[in-house]
Amino acid sequence: MRAIVLAAMLAAPPAAADAPPVIDYAAERAAIARYQDANQRLQDAGWRLARANAAFCTKVIPSIGLQVQDMASYGGPDVARAALGLTRDFAVNAVAAGSPAALSGEFTRNREIVRLERFDPNDWPATPPMAWERTTRAHDHIDAMLAEHGGITIAFADGGEARVTPLEVCATRFDLYAAESRAFANGTRVIFGMGSPAYAYDEPVFAALVAHELAHNVLGHDAWLDRNGRKPKNVRRIEREADRLVPWLLANAGYDPAAGADFMTRWGKEHDAGLKLRRTHDGWDERAENMAAEVPLVRAAMAAEGRADWARLFRREISPEGGLLPRAKR
Ligand SMILES: [Zn+2]
Repeated sequence: MRAIVLAAMLAAPPAAADAPPVIDYAAERAAIARYQDANQRLQDAGWRLARANAAFCTKVIPSIGLQVQDMASYGGPDVARAALGLTRDFAVNAVAAGSPAALSGEFTRNREIVRLERFDPNDWPATPPMAWERTTRAHDHIDAMLAEHGGITIAFADGGEARVTPLEVCATRFDLYAAESRAFANGTRVIFGMGSPAYAYDEPVFAALVAHELAHNVLGHDAWLDRNGRKPKNVRRIEREADRLVPWLLANAGYDPAAGADFMTRWGKEHDAGLKLRRTHDGWDERAENMAAEVPLVRAAMAAEGRADWARLFRREISPEGGLLPRAKR
């Protein structure tokens, strides 16, 4: 998690040559809150999709839906610490709606954390600013505790303590980058830009873009491209496959499966990247059509079985173990 805020990012310029910098803590708090509000939307949609599709993902992990934050990851750790009223560095960043951590009621935003099972993450070495390694280490540690012990006890600076047991989700982390407007998937994470146009859209349409990125991970696209090469022909096919899986992922999570095509139509009209993406992506109108073409299949599966079992029913564009499959005719 790379949170970037105002003076927490760059020390404010001094008011006079020798005067100490003036920091507007209310503005800092507001900037952090804006980041956290955007992050909350990402965590909520990500959890809902990763949880509801766990039955079909080849790689699942136990999760409690907690994301922590480390003051060392801010541009100005001292400013961020003071703005949030923390004594040391670790605190709750977000809990995904509906997750075990959220349902416990213990993980209020910015509540200071002093222990993850037996370890105090504040004791781990860090080289601030902009040091996010400790955040990753904390999440790795939480995941390991959940996998090995079926739960984790987390203690807070205010003396409180919570024991949380996990649920299975598709193995992907969702990270929001403040200084980014695109969205990516790298096999293990979905990285979402705070400047993404999806933030202007309603929940199901926003979730469609999160689902597209999650699709890359659950379909193993990054590793497949590593093996088969990132030539435009290959990228175009995995992009098409990710688009076509979106309605399946959405339907299982209780969203309207048609929201994927809605996203592409809106995004295409407002941000038609046209020639820039044409070599690696179909045109937005064709992408919307490809997504829409899956919707009747998804609705039929939902009607027959109450779930959209894409592990069994989804037509692949690539062979997971091999190369491209022949393009289907419609
Ligand atoms: Zn993509």
